[in-house]
Amino acid sequence: MFRVSLGLLIFLYFFAILGVVLALWVFEERRRQRRAREAARHRVRCAVCAYDFEDYGSDPAAACPRCGALNERLPAPRF
Ligand SMILES: [Zn+2]
Repeated sequence: MFRVSLGLLIFLYFFAILGVVLALWVFEERRRQRRAREAARHRVRCAVCAYDFEDYGSDPAAACPRCGALNERLPAPRF
């Protein structure tokens, strides 16, 4: 058995809690970025009327529901 002082024990306790909080923060941040990327994947902004809409089709050009103009899909943004 090894001896540990109370100060070291408290330090290790808070260090472990800090590690858990940091790991949860990194995990949540990655999950938030993944969700934002998924949400932005189908978002298209019309180049003619600047209307934002979502298009889930597979055509290379998405038709604007407001003015009917064909819009080129932009690559998904990188976060
Ligand atoms: Zn439009």
